[in-house]
Amino acid sequence: MKSRIQYTRPSITSLEVEYATDAAANGWGEKCYDYIHKFENEFKSHLDVKHAISTSSCTGALHMGMAALGIGAGDEVILADTNWIATVSPIIHLGATPIFVDILPDTWCLDPSAVEKAVTKNTKAIVAVHLYGNLCDMNELLDIGNKYGIPVIEDSAEGIGSIYHEKRVGSIGTFGAFSFHGTKTITTGEGGMFVTNDDELYNRVLTLSNHGRSKNQIKQFWPDTIGFKYKMSNVQAAMGCAQIERVEELIKRKREIFNFYKNSLNDLPGIQLNPEKENTTNGYWMPNVVFDLTLGVNREQIQQAFFQENIDARVFFWPLSSLPTFSLNLNTKYSHDIPTRAINLPSYHDITEPELERVISVIRNLRLNCNE
Ligand SMILES: *Cc1c(COP(=O)(O)O)cnc(C)c1O
Repeated sequence: MKSRIQYTRPSITSLEVEYATDAAANGWGEKCYDYIHKFENEFKSHLDVKHAISTSSCTGALHMGMAALGIGAGDEVILADTNWIATVSPIIHLGATPIFVDILPDTWCLDPSAVEKAVTKNTKAIVAVHLYGNLCDMNELLDIGNKYGIPVIEDSAEGIGSIYHEKRVGSIGTFGAFSFHGTKTITTGEGGMFVTNDDELYNRVLTLSNHGRSKNQIKQFWPDTIGFKYKMSNVQAAMGCAQIERVEELIKRKREIFNFYKNSLNDLPGIQLNPEKENTTNGYWMPNVVFDLTLGVNREQIQQAFFQENIDARVFFWPLSSLPTFSLNLNTKYSHDIPTRAINLPSYHDITEPELERVISVIRNLRLNCNE
């Protein structure tokens, strides 16, 4: 049996180990927030954003941000049908209703015209997810947001390294949320970050993130409201400090891996990879290959081909509306169609060239066996 090629794996060097060890040994008492504050500050300067609050997950960051925007029962939140469950679960927890709209066939992100059609008097937010590192059309989404007075939230969990018109994703909308789960470009094991340029929103989330205790409250153990407990620990933040120091290297490698795939598959007609449109830089968190409809290859055949070569390739996200929880039977054409002929490709930092070649030869063989 050939060696296993995993689809993701973090890049942990002696730097992460050194910082985490220091935090575990010394990061207590007066120093218990040192790595947390350092990580938040360095993340802010990487993103060029005014405020950052580290969290236990991206889901937690989204939950608190949405709560701080006052999203609740009777409200609607528009998001792409093609998504990971984490984007929609905070909406459900807050008692609001998710409105799933279709994606664009080239970016696999939210279709702005579908968003505008879905706006009602109850719409409280639009969530732009930069899927697989691809860029949402932020200008069009912000125009819709401005026209109807609706905030645009950026779920940037997959968007480290992605830049839209000179701005890093997460810094463009009302607020941004990041994930540092072990599969993401930057990892702290589990973890996340809430970011915003809005002073008032920042203060509300800061209070919520501290079990409802306002930073101006001088009384001890005196919550002003019911908040959340979605904090990052100092040990996790120490790992984050090492990862953010290495962020350019981590992004560069993601782009190298993607370009290796792209250059090797260039000559194959009917093969679509993540796009990089004008005025954008794709952080390429996850390279994907989509086989043209005319090729007649399906997801199960693709999975089987990778499985036989001992390569862990994962399916493209299912339409959320099709999950048993929702069972909506929506007519979101591309969200339903693209996953039936697409696959995630392995892209971890330390993947070797022979391993990349093994992945490429599976795709080439699948393509060659197509009747066309
Ligand atoms: C990973 C991911 C999340 C969730 O991140 P957690 O840190 O696991 O909560 C949310 N949204 C998207 C698009 C993701 O890929």
